[in-house]
Amino acid sequence: MIKLQEKVLAIDIGGTSIKTGIVEGDKIIEFASYKNVWKGAQEKLTPFFSKIFSHWIEKYNITKIGIGCPGDIIDNVVVSAANLKWHDFHLLDELQAIYPQMTIKIENDGRAATLAELTYGKLKDVKNGIFIVFGRGVGGSLVINHEIYTGSFTRGGNFGHMVIKNYKARKCNCGRRGCFETYASVAGLVQTIKDINYHSKNPVPLKELGGLRVMDLANNQHPIVIKAIKQWNLDIAESILSLALILDPSHIILAGGITESGLIDIEVIKEKLREQHYDNVVVELSDFKSKAGLVGAATLLK
Ligand SMILES: [Zn+2]
Repeated sequence: MIKLQEKVLAIDIGGTSIKTGIVEGDKIIEFASYKNVWKGAQEKLTPFFSKIFSHWIEKYNITKIGIGCPGDIIDNVVVSAANLKWHDFHLLDELQAIYPQMTIKIENDGRAATLAELTYGKLKDVKNGIFIVFGRGVGGSLVINHEIYTGSFTRGGNFGHMVIKNYKARKCNCGRRGCFETYASVAGLVQTIKDINYHSKNPVPLKELGGLRVMDLANNQHPIVIKAIKQWNLDIAESILSLALILDPSHIILAGGITESGLIDIEVIKEKLREQHYDNVVVELSDFKSKAGLVGAATLLK
């Protein structure tokens, strides 16, 4: 007889939207996405959740909630989430006050997504690997000896804030300049288009320039967008090579909504790795695509 897995209410908090779902193992049974509804203010989040989830909790008899959230999460507290401007946010305590019988866990979104890949995806049985999620920022984790590397003070593998440019480069929400995520994220790609625009006689109309609009312009071969995407891929490849030099991974797996667009050029990354004789590294897109964080949030309760 097949043992049914328990259904978990999963929440993936992102920079521009919150994805929610009912997840069973690696299958998403229900899904809903909310864009900017809470306006970023941390005090509005718990009332918002309690309003939208009551139906699902009753329908599926939910007893477990898993949450992925950007930033430093220590002992289920959001100590700091720079992109959301959240500090010392006791989200778990707030939710636990509403749902005292519920088992709730909160983890960094990149680590949660990596856990999904380790448990069900392309990092299963991989000893040393890198998992990168491209969104508004850049998250993910290093996998060392089949486990997510957390470091001495639980802040390990925070490579989105690895500096890849010089000290005059783009300002990051963390306060430094030139971080990986200010170039390699979707927001980074948009900024690269804006930078090239600045010197162009035929600029891209900047109104509502987000991921979907960039894809549209790329499909129409807009020269500035094509140039920006080439630069973006080179920035990603250089950064991944730097990570590979430290970790010597066998697998590098990429996830996030932008991986569904076809804009990330795996061959550019492989070529960059080959330059430094990393010929045998597997570089692939995750099958979870934009849902890695959501499945990962549920996997926290496994
Ligand atoms: Zn940074």
